[in-house]
Amino acid sequence: MNKNECSCCEGELVWNSNNKAGKDSYQCQVCNLTFNQLAFCPDCKWQAEKIQACGAVSYFCPNCNELKSKSRITFQYQKNGA
Ligand SMILES: [Zn+2]
Ligand SMILES: [Zn+2]
Repeated sequence: MNKNECSCCEGELVWNSNNKAGKDSYQCQVCNLTFNQLAFCPDCKWQAEKIQACGAVSYFCPNCNELKSKSRITFQYQKNGA
């Protein structure tokens, strides 16, 4: 799954800027569910860390020990636990 898609209704997820946890959070306005965006390394499938610098976003894989281009990162959306 590489789209901003609700796992419940397959509707489009909308960026939710009001999340309190400071995580990347997306919301389905149909189901009223929120999802955390998780980034995974395209090479080894480890979870990559988001790094924000100078307005640019990149991802660091601790397993490969290198930065990964955002365009190659695999994103998954994890439903927020109620
Ligand atoms: Zn939905
Ligand atoms: Zn990796």
